[in-house]
Amino acid sequence: MGLAIPLVGLNELQSTIRLMTSTRQTEILVVGAGPAGLATGLALSRQGRRVMVAEKARIRRRKLCGEFLSGDGWRVLEDLGLSTRLMRAGVHAVGAAVICPDTGNHWRQTVGGLGVGCSRSLLTAELERSFFASGGRILRGCRVGAVEGGSGRVMVHAREGTEATRIEAAVAVAAGGHRSQARVPMQSQPVHRRNPWFALAVHCTCDEVQHLPDAVELYPLSHGYAGLVQIEGDRANLCLMSDRPISNPMRYIGEIRGSNRHLDNRLRVLSLDSSSLAMSAGFDFRAQDPGFLAVGDAAGPPAPVLGQGLAMALQSGLLAAQLIDEGLQNRLPVEQIHQQMRQLASTKFGRRRRLGSGLHYLLRHPMLTRMVVAGMNCAPGLSHWLVRQTRGPLPAQLGECPQVASATA
Ligand SMILES: Cc1cc2nc3c(=O)[nH]c(=O)nc-3n(C[C@H](O)[C@H](O)[C@H](O)COP(=O)(O)OP(=O)(O)OC[C@H]3O[C@@H](n4cnc5c(N)ncnc54)[C@H](O)[C@@H]3O)c2cc1C
Repeated sequence: MGLAIPLVGLNELQSTIRLMTSTRQTEILVVGAGPAGLATGLALSRQGRRVMVAEKARIRRRKLCGEFLSGDGWRVLEDLGLSTRLMRAGVHAVGAAVICPDTGNHWRQTVGGLGVGCSRSLLTAELERSFFASGGRILRGCRVGAVEGGSGRVMVHAREGTEATRIEAAVAVAAGGHRSQARVPMQSQPVHRRNPWFALAVHCTCDEVQHLPDAVELYPLSHGYAGLVQIEGDRANLCLMSDRPISNPMRYIGEIRGSNRHLDNRLRVLSLDSSSLAMSAGFDFRAQDPGFLAVGDAAGPPAPVLGQGLAMALQSGLLAAQLIDEGLQNRLPVEQIHQQMRQLASTKFGRRRRLGSGLHYLLRHPMLTRMVVAGMNCAPGLSHWLVRQTRGPLPAQLGECPQVASATA
């Protein structure tokens, strides 16, 4: 503990004028304990690096997500040695994608190794468990405000509760997720003019398992779209994106059923678990540069429609870990590692981002969606190729678990 100092330039911390400041030290500081931050931290600590993850949330809570993990993300989990435990926990293999417009034909494409339905809480818990086992540390309730410095050492300014903290590290990694404008209170949400998207997710249960979806399903709606996928424990996750404010989520779900009768049919046999409801708003789906090395959504979240965010978060985490490890061994300046990361991420993820933005736009226009669905039904080879273009390399099969393997056969 030391003397009180004013933390100049930190919006969130400027009001904290006379607080005692402590300084912590680590080799690598990762900001954010989401999939990207934990994958980065896990890979680095397994390489023998001293890693601290700063996470603003005090406890792990349900996070808004469609909960479809693409097969290329599953490959990362296999590489990290987490897939067997996840299979045992019951993750659900997904071997096909479906688009169901309200009128006209459906489109369905079977793709080997497409992905799994896996709740965010299970995924994060597994990553966290392995991170701790490899010697990593998570500083919970620690909100990072700003990062200063470049070559040599960086100084990270943070707040733990009411106390200002500084963390000194050789490298800092931004893994704080997308810049949502607000954690939306249930009744009154601010409308963000440029990024009007509101989203919610809720778990569903069903007495008869055959009524749960056997594919990842997309439903175009009048003001957005919905995704449905089966996850572990014979549950499904319903996720909605809307360009209209959602003031009452359960009533909103009732209303949108009227704009897609196929979704309505599905929801008739599912019970929504309102205790699992998660909401957020104000998404910006453009690439971002937080000014220091960024992984996952901190580098710009992809449009959620492709279900690629988790895979990209995990992949960028491994990529960053490799670049940081090599950079530290070769004594490269941090700016150079940052530059390498930007270039590689743009090559690796640029096309997926663009295709995701295109589909996100398309699904807002029912007429266009019907035309494209009709076109893809006429050319199944093309549509299969297109699906593969939206992901990284998929595994030939998703594992040894009979349930998982059968969906990819
Ligand atoms: C509606 C919706 C549906 C989606 N559905 C899917 C899907 O089905 N499949 C898929 O693959 N992707 C999906 N995504 C995208 C996916 O959720 C994200 O790409 C993924 O969560 C990114 O992981 P991350 O680790 O980068 O960020 P996050 O998961 O957002 O984690 C960031 C962490 O950083 C912490 N943090 C933030 N700021 C600070 C700070 N200043 N100091 C300390 N800690 C901080 C946060 O508390 C959080 O724990 C969806 C996204 C949305 C919006």
